[in-house]
Amino acid sequence: MAELRFSALREVFNREAVAPQTPSGVISDYFGENVFDLAKMEHYLSSEAFKVVKRAINEGKSLSRQEAGLVATGVKAWAIEKGATHYTHWFHPLTDGTAEKHDGFIETGEHGKIVEKFSGEVLVQSEPDASSFPSGGIRNTFEARGYTAWDVSSPVFIVGTTLCIPTIFVSYTGEALDYKAPLLKTLSELDRAAVDVCQYFDKDVTKVISTLGIEQEYFLIDEALYYARPDLMLAERTMMGHQSSKDQQLSDHYFGSIPERVMCFMEDFECEAYKLGIPVKTRHNEVAPNQFECAPIFEEVNLAVDHNQLLMDIMKRVARRHRFRVLFHEKPFAGINGSGKHNNWSMATDTGVNLLSPGKNPKSNLQFLTFLVNVVKAVNDNDALLRASVMNETNSYRLGGHEAPPAIISVFVGTYLTEMLQNIANKVTDRKMTPAQKTELKLGIGKIPEILLDNTDRNRTSPFAFTGNRFEFRAVGSSANCSAAMIVLNAAVAAQLSQFKKDVDAIIKKGRNKDEAIFQVLKKYILESERILFEGDGYSKEWHAEAAKRGLCNIKSVPESIGKYLAPGSRKVLVASGIFTDKELESRVEVEYEKFTKKIQIEARVLGDLAINHIVPTAVTYMTTLIDNVKGLRDIFNDIEFERLAGARKEMIVTISDHISNIKRLVNEMIEARKKANVIEDSYKKALAYENKVKPYLDEIRYHIDKLELMVDNEIWPLPKYREMLFTR
Ligand code: ADP
Ligand code: MG
Repeated sequence: MAELRFSALREVFNREAVAPQTPSGVISDYFGENVFDLAKMEHYLSSEAFKVVKRAINEGKSLSRQEAGLVATGVKAWAIEKGATHYTHWFHPLTDGTAEKHDGFIETGEHGKIVEKFSGEVLVQSEPDASSFPSGGIRNTFEARGYTAWDVSSPVFIVGTTLCIPTIFVSYTGEALDYKAPLLKTLSELDRAAVDVCQYFDKDVTKVISTLGIEQEYFLIDEALYYARPDLMLAERTMMGHQSSKDQQLSDHYFGSIPERVMCFMEDFECEAYKLGIPVKTRHNEVAPNQFECAPIFEEVNLAVDHNQLLMDIMKRVARRHRFRVLFHEKPFAGINGSGKHNNWSMATDTGVNLLSPGKNPKSNLQFLTFLVNVVKAVNDNDALLRASVMNETNSYRLGGHEAPPAIISVFVGTYLTEMLQNIANKVTDRKMTPAQKTELKLGIGKIPEILLDNTDRNRTSPFAFTGNRFEFRAVGSSANCSAAMIVLNAAVAAQLSQFKKDVDAIIKKGRNKDEAIFQVLKKYILESERILFEGDGYSKEWHAEAAKRGLCNIKSVPESIGKYLAPGSRKVLVASGIFTDKELESRVEVEYEKFTKKIQIEARVLGDLAINHIVPTAVTYMTTLIDNVKGLRDIFNDIEFERLAGARKEMIVTISDHISNIKRLVNEMIEARKKANVIEDSYKKALAYENKVKPYLDEIRYHIDKLELMVDNEIWPLPKYREMLFTR
């Protein structure tokens, strides 16, 4: 069995870097060449059609059939010129990946002749069979049809020979079955609420978009080694493997020079990304060996999410060209850093202002503080919901680990802003402020440096950190579709901003002036949000005790955490605002419970199989060698000498035998636990049973396997070891 491991290693040792297929010329020459962007629309569409699409994009509206017809003609002309033969609606079902079903442009025309056709109808709408996507009980199989409808705000693009049309995905009865439909709703909610608040400061603002820059962490592993690890292939993480003697202790990988094979891969996928209009900008080695990161320039949230989903897809495909596999799992290797997807998030106005960036004068700084405090308050009031939005089976191995954001959501704003907020809380009174008091406050606010980046000591341990001109939500998992987190964050901030407007207007109505009303409400929010602000070490033990005192949510259980979607406060944010119906929200939670259960079920099966079919036989083989050896010693030596010589070997036989027995026993117990859990009807209770009764076996079984790995002859160990997977490339 070790044959596969050794032949894989030989393959890796002989691997050469594959030259990237980058075109000549500068990036800006080919950037976006496979995207039907505004410039191409202007060229390929009639002026009437162009106007219609532009308006639809600006107003967030969809197209009528007739309008779509006009647009489809131009899209088809461009696509066929680019060599496209097929088209697909490209959408984000609740599976974490993207979905596509390709149809050819060809139709039978007159006299049975084949012609290329592409109508407005198929551009804007399609009816894929939705029965095999998770729906959480929304859809019965007898109404299995789902609708996909073009999201005009995300441009169509070509991958290979397929024209891809970004779409939302809803059920026959109109409920969202995807991430995009609710995301778009939250974005327009936020737009509306934020514009209202901006009006206090600048009457020219008519639109606010939410911006997102996604840092994507990932591991690379050589394809041959990947194929020799069934756990990686099926569960996307190693479920066994003793730690390598050296891994990341020396921090010698982080920001180190990028290995050549990896560099070729990066250049290659970046080039594909550029052609699709994805502005990847940053690349570097991450902390763990064979771990890397890439980050694009931030974009509008919906586009950023589409681009991230597309980027992951591109990376997976291009990796094969380089004989790599990309691992997006949050914790593919135990004991070393996991991967996240840091969500750098802010809001920007159509007047070109970043609302989370301090400005040049007291007025713009008051606006900045207003948005900052409202975000802090939104996180304070929705910490459990935000956590629910990032919680799932794979991310649970990472969150709360010694290097990853803790299970407790807190906000870091840096010492400078902390003082600023305290100052407001201390100085603002409920009584009418004197002109002198107001001037003093405004002067202080006016002094907030335009660039806070240098003043904000970056706290890497905070799950939600202010980093100078944006917040960075770091708890999102590397394999996740960021929409889930973005839906909650944007919805929570939108609801908060609406509340702020109400609170301020109420005070203005009582006769106070606008600035004073704003100050008073901000003061109230600052005091109410004190518990969420934390500047210290989020990884420390003390923080857990402190957070408990503050009443912050610290739920370790995944199903319990997901269940917070259904808490009254969460429904207020997600249902009252019209983003979800109760039924949609409940079905989504259902999907999450099911995903959780199924992933543990898969892991348990994979581990059980490997333990019994790979590890136990290998250990038995080695034990037999030892037994033969001991028997041989007995044949040759007298009793006294035999005892002296065979002692250590006999001990090894006993230890190995014990580990084998333990593995056998634990695997059987795990199977029994699964059987019991499987008959539970209620999906929440089933998920809990999987978490509490099945999942613990994964670690217990692994413990014995990893001990055996240290004892059994390296020559016969069947699976690539950590040192081999992490240090060969
Ligand atoms: P670091 O690792 O130091 O946090 P990176 O350069 O890796 O920083 O990533 C920072 C990300 O934040 C980039 O994607 C960048 O475009 C994004 N970003 C910067 N400004 C904003 C903003 N106003 N809104 C959203 N994202 C932003
Ligand atoms: Mg960052």
